[in-house]
Amino acid sequence: MSVKIDPNLMKDLKAFGMKDANKCMHCGNCTAVCPLSTPENPFPRKIIKYAQMGLKDKILQSPEPWLCYYCGECSDVCPRGADPGEAMMVMRRYLTSCYDWTGFSRKFYTSERFELVAISIVAVLVGLALWIFHGANPDMEHACLNTVWPAPAIEIADIIMGTILAFLLLSNTYRCFLFVMGDLRKKIPLDIYIGQAKELLTHFLTQKSFGKCEDRTQWFVHLMIMTGYCTVFLLVVVFLAGGIHVIGLSWDKIMFQRDVIYPFFHPVRLLGYYATFAILYGTTYAMIGRLKKTKAPYKNSHATDWMFLMLLQLTTLTGILVHFGRLLDWPMITYIIYVIHMMVAIPMLVLEVPFAKWAHLAFRPVVIYLMGVKEKYYQDQKG
Ligand code: SF4
Ligand code: SF4
Repeated sequence: MSVKIDPNLMKDLKAFGMKDANKCMHCGNCTAVCPLSTPENPFPRKIIKYAQMGLKDKILQSPEPWLCYYCGECSDVCPRGADPGEAMMVMRRYLTSCYDWTGFSRKFYTSERFELVAISIVAVLVGLALWIFHGANPDMEHACLNTVWPAPAIEIADIIMGTILAFLLLSNTYRCFLFVMGDLRKKIPLDIYIGQAKELLTHFLTQKSFGKCEDRTQWFVHLMIMTGYCTVFLLVVVFLAGGIHVIGLSWDKIMFQRDVIYPFFHPVRLLGYYATFAILYGTTYAMIGRLKKTKAPYKNSHATDWMFLMLLQLTTLTGILVHFGRLLDWPMITYIIYVIHMMVAIPMLVLEVPFAKWAHLAFRPVVIYLMGVKEKYYQDQKG
């Protein structure tokens, strides 16, 4: 079997943030210390070796970058300062761009200017759309968002956005499946895929593998950001985009843009408060960590890491201000902050979900699930 070498691979990876991987002398300390490395899927040394040798195809087929949760234990023990944890993070960026058939992800990750321009264009388009399509008679006595942007129009826009995002993310996830499973995917019976499905949900919801790492704070912070974000996503995108009709609610009871504020102990309001707290806690912890650089995972920050945290935190802060504007019944201030809120939140959704950091939410549990499928298949073959 011939092996294809890509002599420019390391140069390419540098564009995704690779710095010190060439210092690796293959002592194996990192793999020995990694709590998530297994004899079947050893890492991170193997992946660094692939990168040094230009084995692009091997990297494309590798599940290992998705099995790493970036606890940084490997980087702490590396005698050469090769930062293997960061190398795994770079691989996730690189693989995300390889799975993405549009080519957008590659540009987003490799050009800070492109990233800034893309976010700015989407933000300006959102602002313009809210300006052009605002209602004819906005209520200027009470903070009443539905008089400025009627709920049915917002829901239609949300359904269109949700459908496009789902299509992009699912098609990229399917490409991830093709790369990781290769020809083996055709040999594995469907009942094994179905039988392992609960593992997919468990890993998605609990990130339980991360719990094996020594630094439990990192796992907790990761879990807070993930659950906070997923709660908001569920409330805004899923419930708003058609969910309200499935459960038989009408426009005036719409989940997201609803002018009657829920009572304090209503589940939707409590979930909103949980998401706000979880995201603010997680993003603040990560931002302080990146500024102080005290832990290995925070020592090397890529521009997209900062952009992701800033968009998430700004979305949450402007969301809090909109909430207070409505509670205090200040119409004009509420409407202005709402526009700013949407100009931050929508670029984050549109660009991060299918093309960047939020795509990890799909790829990682899917790959962990597929490794379980493979393991079960091989066990059945032996038994
Ligand atoms: S510990 Fe450092 S030098 Fe040793 S194999 Fe890992 S990355 Fe290479
Ligand atoms: S960062 Fe943690 S999980 Fe990732 S390879 Fe290093 S030790 Fe393993």
